[in-house]
Amino acid sequence: MEQTAIVTGASRGIGRAVAAALAQGGARVCINYLRQREKAEELAARLTAEGGRVMCWQADVADRAAVEAMADAVRRRFGPISLVVSNAGIAGQLQFQDVREAEWDRYFAVNVKGAYHVIQAALPDMLHAHAGSIVTVSSMWGLRGASCEAVYSATKAALIGLTRSLALELAPTGIRVNCVAPGVINTDMVQVLGQETLASLAEATPLGRLGTPEDVAAAVCFLAGEQAGFLTGQVLCADGGFIV
Ligand code: NAP
Repeated sequence: MEQTAIVTGASRGIGRAVAAALAQGGARVCINYLRQREKAEELAARLTAEGGRVMCWQADVADRAAVEAMADAVRRRFGPISLVVSNAGIAGQLQFQDVREAEWDRYFAVNVKGAYHVIQAALPDMLHAHAGSIVTVSSMWGLRGASCEAVYSATKAALIGLTRSLALELAPTGIRVNCVAPGVINTDMVQVLGQETLASLAEATPLGRLGTPEDVAAAVCFLAGEQAGFLTGQVLCADGGFIV
């Protein structure tokens, strides 16, 4: 079945690869972004030239009204939404005692409340269709602790709780909810760590390299699609074996 998807945080990194893979697989895709309009539009132009059906939409996932306006725009352009990939996220390294309340709130607003907003905005279409798929993007640090990433790790653990609970709640309606927990993926997000730390993280990864956005996109597309029709409430680690 052709899907109509919203991918949050799709201008760069993992979300960008997910949006591309979904569009190349025939889905109608909304490429959501926060600030990097040029990158989102460049991706949309490339996918459209390849025959894809895509649109771009600026919305801060932390802003409920903006997310609802995005869902309405997707419905007007493409029809009912059948897939949500809640990927937009922010990260950073801070010692816990230095975390200010505004930072704590912003991490939760984007990483957790953002998922709440986009899932709730799309859900009426899925409930009406008695079908649909939701994929959240957590992190291996949501399954395991990470020094100096307590807030990020807490938001990513919250997403796993949300995924599992929502999977149970929505199972009778035919809507599946799953999660991908990436390891260290070579995107803008991890460049602050520096080349030396990234090299040691690659070494600490059993498969001996950093992941690519496409590695994660493959896992997301698998969970999103019909091959995963009997999977719900799962956390799939796309981490090169980091957490085994
Ligand atoms: P990235 O390269 O930093 O890209 C982040 C994307 O999210 C961009 O498209 C950005 O839009 C968008 N974004 C940020 N805040 C947003 C907001 N408030 N509303 C809407 N969009 C927003 O990140 P990434 O590495 O691809 O990470 C994607 C997801 O994977 C995140 O949830 C992250 O926590 C998770 N993850 C990443 C790694 C990793 O190693 N990279 C590992 C585990 C989990 P603009 O371009 O407009 O700024």
